[in-house]
Amino acid sequence: MIDIKSLYYDELEELILGGGFPKFRAKQVFQWLSKGALSFKDMKNLPKNLAEFLEGSCYISVANIEKKLVSRYDKTVKYLFRLNDGEFIETVVMSYRHGYSICVSTQVGCKMGCTFCATGKSGFSRSLTASEILAQIEAAGRDLKVRISNIVLMGMGEPLDNFDNVIRFLKLVSSPEGLNIGMRHITLSTCGIVPKIYELAEYKFALTLSVSLHAPDNKTRSETMPVNKRYPIEQLIKACRDYFDITGRRVSFEYAMIDGINDSDECAEKLGKLLSGLNCHVNLIPVNSVKGSDYKKSRVERQKQFVNILSNYHITATVRRTLGSDINASCGQLKRNHTEEGGK
Ligand code: SAH
Ligand code: SF4
Repeated sequence: MIDIKSLYYDELEELILGGGFPKFRAKQVFQWLSKGALSFKDMKNLPKNLAEFLEGSCYISVANIEKKLVSRYDKTVKYLFRLNDGEFIETVVMSYRHGYSICVSTQVGCKMGCTFCATGKSGFSRSLTASEILAQIEAAGRDLKVRISNIVLMGMGEPLDNFDNVIRFLKLVSSPEGLNIGMRHITLSTCGIVPKIYELAEYKFALTLSVSLHAPDNKTRSETMPVNKRYPIEQLIKACRDYFDITGRRVSFEYAMIDGINDSDECAEKLGKLLSGLNCHVNLIPVNSVKGSDYKKSRVERQKQFVNILSNYHITATVRRTLGSDINASCGQLKRNHTEEGGK
């Protein structure tokens, strides 16, 4: 069966023409799909034989709301969506002064096994198709009745471990016929799969690449992020420098501050040296504690000290505020709880 919502517009036209139907029908089908039609029979202006043709050869990806949590503090909304095959994924919508931002999942689970991450702890099931990544945005937008203007690929999964589907998603979501969300409003977060960073650079998208660094040296990084054993820190930072040279886009770094693990003055000095001369921004995030690990957030005084030391190296760093802390808004936690409660 063809995953119809993962097709580019010209591929949809080809499909319709190939079935012996006129080209203009593609536009009608596309409009129905964009409006969120869940079955071909509901597409009222299509001839019966076209609806039957589509029914027999295609399926429509959905993200059904299984659970929805709304934060009392800041209106952050977290969804647990159920996909066509019964798998669950998480999506978070945050409201800012400038609009709505959505954090989407790219895989069911993750293979990378970072020790501080709830998703990493619950194993890997499968990658999402482009349409399943899109479906999260459509379903949330429909439910909240808002236009979502920013996307971060920071939910469950490693986007660069699902490269082709993520590229397809990026092209679809930014196309004028689609949701038309420009690349400048998209951030892709990766744990640092070096060859894929080079592949992504070749597309010269105007998106923001965000690299989950979380440690300033190989020893500390390999202990928390197994991917570092394959692509050590020097290779990763070189790739980031090259990414900037190729795309002209400033890279962001994520650094989850863990009490006593990666938050000493020495770590900040090492990080300053590592990134010096690189046009970048560092987001410091007090680590969220997850079940099964005893990592604790760094103290506020440590966070401030990090910002100060980095500024000596002319690196701008900000401490990210935590949204949705009452609803476990950091990804992977809701699904884990749901599964452990026997919800799956
Ligand atoms: N796999 C990608 C994107 C998904 S994870 C990546 O690792 O970048 C999104 C972000 O959340 C990453 O920066 C990740 O390191 C961070 N993260 C995961 N668990 C966290 C936790 N417990 N506290 C703070 N940040 C966390
Ligand atoms: Fe995967 Fe990212 Fe979690 Fe690491 S932090 S396990 S790469 S989702």
